[in-house]
Amino acid sequence: MAHVIINAEGCKACMLCIEFCPQGCLAISESLNSRGFHPTELGKPEQCTGCRICATMCPDVCIEVFCTPTSKTAPAPDVVAHE
Ligand code: SF4
Ligand code: SF4
Repeated sequence: MAHVIINAEGCKACMLCIEFCPQGCLAISESLNSRGFHPTELGKPEQCTGCRICATMCPDVCIEVFCTPTSKTAPAPDVVAHE
């Protein structure tokens, strides 16, 4: 399961992330940020694979992607108790 966090205030609507998302998850929001841009939003979160291409492409580092390990992607880390 991937979680995409977009800093809407920092977004300048250059659309690079939208162009490069291989799943077509991202879209331009109808709302405006305080700088007058329509920021990117995650329109289809169910299609996101957590590939992080959007975060890599954003020139203003407005996108963070977090993935929760699943049995199909990576094993969950063992919990080690520290004494
Ligand atoms: S992590 Fe990958 S699939 Fe998800 S929104 Fe970003 S580019 Fe698209
Ligand atoms: S690449 Fe960054 S600045 Fe450009 S539209 Fe996407 S989130 Fe906004």
